[in-house]
Amino acid sequence: MSIPRFWRSIKSRYNLIATKCLSCGGTYFPPRAICPKCRRRSRLEEVKLGGNGEIVSYTVIHSPPEGFDHKGPYIMAVVKLDEGPCLTTQIVDCEPEDLKIGMKVKKVFRRIREDGEAGLIHYGFKFKPRGDG
Ligand code: ZN
Repeated sequence: MSIPRFWRSIKSRYNLIATKCLSCGGTYFPPRAICPKCRRRSRLEEVKLGGNGEIVSYTVIHSPPEGFDHKGPYIMAVVKLDEGPCLTTQIVDCEPEDLKIGMKVKKVFRRIREDGEAGLIHYGFKFKPRGDG
């Protein structure tokens, strides 16, 4: 049965669902089936991440992969979320020269790419500066 897995991945992509381990308190994104620390002893629950975090590191990419609707350089960053997990994401609404390590960012929804003739449009989260620090 692949349908439940499909919906799980969609849900995770749209809502930033992570798993929180009730045994050690660790929060993991993408969601895990077992806690990497506690293993079999872990009791997990799904948590929705708030979508706020800060930039830990970033790279400016000057030649986007084929299929991206983005012209010119774009920014990929590792963002550490307030809940603890880090993720790699595109930063939008920000010029590369304005980027700072530690800059506060928040999640936004944007179109990621469009798949050729099928016209399948993929949406997902990106991050943009929060404007308050
Ligand atoms: Zn744990």
